[in-house]
Amino acid sequence: MADSYEKIQNVAIVGGTHGNELTGVEIVKRYMEQPAQIERETLNVKTLLANPNAIKLCRRYDEKDLNRCFEEANLNSTNSATYEDQRAKEIVSILGGRSSEDRQDLIIDIHNSTAEMKFSLIFSRLDVFSRKLYAHLIKQEPEIRLYYMPEVDRENAPYLPTIGKRDICLEVGAQAHGVLIGSLYERTKELVELILDFSNQWNKDPSMAENNNLVETVIYEHQFNLDFPRYENGELSGYVHPALQFKDYSKVEVGQPLFKLFDGSEVLWKGQEDLTDIYPVFINENAYYEKGVAMSLTVKKDIKL
Ligand SMILES: [Zn+2]
Repeated sequence: MADSYEKIQNVAIVGGTHGNELTGVEIVKRYMEQPAQIERETLNVKTLLANPNAIKLCRRYDEKDLNRCFEEANLNSTNSATYEDQRAKEIVSILGGRSSEDRQDLIIDIHNSTAEMKFSLIFSRLDVFSRKLYAHLIKQEPEIRLYYMPEVDRENAPYLPTIGKRDICLEVGAQAHGVLIGSLYERTKELVELILDFSNQWNKDPSMAENNNLVETVIYEHQFNLDFPRYENGELSGYVHPALQFKDYSKVEVGQPLFKLFDGSEVLWKGQEDLTDIYPVFINENAYYEKGVAMSLTVKKDIKL
């Protein structure tokens, strides 16, 4: 994407991509009841409850993780094997796909995590709009964490919000799936509205792109995932070390423990190639047991936005 000023017109607010992540489900329901809350002069804002079957079941998904259905190959396939494959195609017809003229300029997809993710903004690209937006948001909400997931191939990414030109995956936690925590609901809703306000301002004032008062902050850049310790038959042979539980975004140095085995021994972080200090996130996320992920390792980097 050209790193130049571009208006933000079509914005989608999505909840319930995972049916048991209630912050987004309830926020989007409120906006559907009271659309005036999200009307902004220069924006065309849509709301979407992404996976109605899963919401009804209060489960992550019905047959398949919807947030793994948006690769172009899957969207273009004539064979929709599961409810979620079908629903992904419907969502593209509602929001506009990657090549459509009314492609969303920004998709805000609201998720929850059972890990202590606070208010993580997971992003894959930093154009001038995103930089200025994040610089604005971190001043308003001290518990924002910027989690950078370098993008390999946006056209073939499986995630729902990648059908938009820009996406913000808001990962809010810690909150158990199927539970709504009031403070997280309120602060997330405020954040969504701050994003709308900022986008509206951005459209009215192109000089915002030239603001050179750079804000110093840090981002956490994704490296790779670690699975739980397991026996040969795949069953757990241990657990996330108690010292790490709910310690997402905290530094782990070489020699510090990651896991504890049921026999009482510890699995230490040994470092890897040029990786020494790491900052694990998504620690012990409930939904990732099935994906073989006990935590994701990130490194912390200074950045100016
Ligand atoms: Zn989710």
